[in-house]
Amino acid sequence: MVLSFFQNACILIASMSIVQHFLKDKRISRDMSLKSKLLWGFCNGILGIILMINSVTITSDTFIDFRYIPILFSALYSGFLSSIVSSIMIGIFRFLILGVSNISIIGLITALLMGTGFGIIFLLKSSKKSQYIYCLLFFIILSVASSFVVPVPKNAEAVSQTLILYFAGYLIVSYLSIKYADYIMEKIKIYQSLKNEATKDYLTGLNNVRQFDNSFNSISEMAIRKDEELSMLLIDIDFFKKINDTYGHNAGDTILKSLAPILINTCRTYDVISRIGGEEFSIILLDCSDSKAVKIAERLRKNVENNDFYISDNEAIKITISIGISSYPKLTSQIDNLLENADIALYGAKNNGRNKVVLFNNEKNNT
Ligand code: GH3
Ligand code: MG
Ligand code: MG
Repeated sequence: MVLSFFQNACILIASMSIVQHFLKDKRISRDMSLKSKLLWGFCNGILGIILMINSVTITSDTFIDFRYIPILFSALYSGFLSSIVSSIMIGIFRFLILGVSNISIIGLITALLMGTGFGIIFLLKSSKKSQYIYCLLFFIILSVASSFVVPVPKNAEAVSQTLILYFAGYLIVSYLSIKYADYIMEKIKIYQSLKNEATKDYLTGLNNVRQFDNSFNSISEMAIRKDEELSMLLIDIDFFKKINDTYGHNAGDTILKSLAPILINTCRTYDVISRIGGEEFSIILLDCSDSKAVKIAERLRKNVENNDFYISDNEAIKITISIGISSYPKLTSQIDNLLENADIALYGAKNNGRNKVVLFNNEKNNT
């Protein structure tokens, strides 16, 4: 029996470790998407079924299993819908293995009530600890109630021994597995925030220069492999030093932050936008010809020129940007030179009076 308890604990720990791997880039919370909630409920349903198959034998005719713990996981980390999905799966599986009988009907009803009850408890606006205690109480009440209708061992001693082991087992296993799950969630959060800090610019939320390098390397390899065109925009705010000097550094930061959504909204969703310097940005335009890149850059230049940049609640200023463009393979034959050539074109835009778009063309003199 002790070995069976241990096996169940191992199944829970192993499942959580495997799930951790798949969840490391996902957001797990009550407000995750419908698809994720269904998936989370499904995975916990599978875990419940595995635990049911590995039930612990107490006496020759009594078994206990930990099928309700995954329902608790569903409710705790994702909410009502997931707990219902898990409980339906667990209830239906009992039907499938036991066939239609009083025990399987009661098993299905108990699983559904457990899922509904846990789901409702986790909708309450109380602390997680209180919710866990309410769930345990609900679980005890429902288990005792169902033990009156299920044909359990006839003698009172066997009934009480089973119930004591059942509740003690659930208390220990649920407490330890929730603690372990919390530890995993915390680790996932730390991993996600470290990853975010390593790849995103703290001020604008765009890619930082390190991520720009990584993206550029993989995108350029792909462009060569697929024989696709690739263009790059290099953007620099005009007279930004003057803006800082006139309105202050904080106002400058506010402008940088407000510029990011304009870049995002003007480009296509799959273009890679990065902040690669103080007030310098780059956009990698995938599968994009030089003429298309000029159109996008011109639209961007106009959008910035026409935008009111609020530096306080009631003060807005205008800014302009200069854009240098390079394009592979038509005007830049070596893909690795895209950034350098976009920089030469940007220099040309600055020299031509700023608020300009210049396309790098080796044949003409950009500078
Ligand atoms: P131009 O590009 O038109 O030639 O003139 P500029 O005044 O913009 O010249 P430059 O690009 O050399 O100046 C960049 C300025 O951007 C200098 C620096 O004070 C400012 N800057 C760099 N990073 C930040 C930042 O994170 N926040 C703010 N507020 N300013 C920054
Ligand atoms: Mg600059
Ligand atoms: Mg500048």
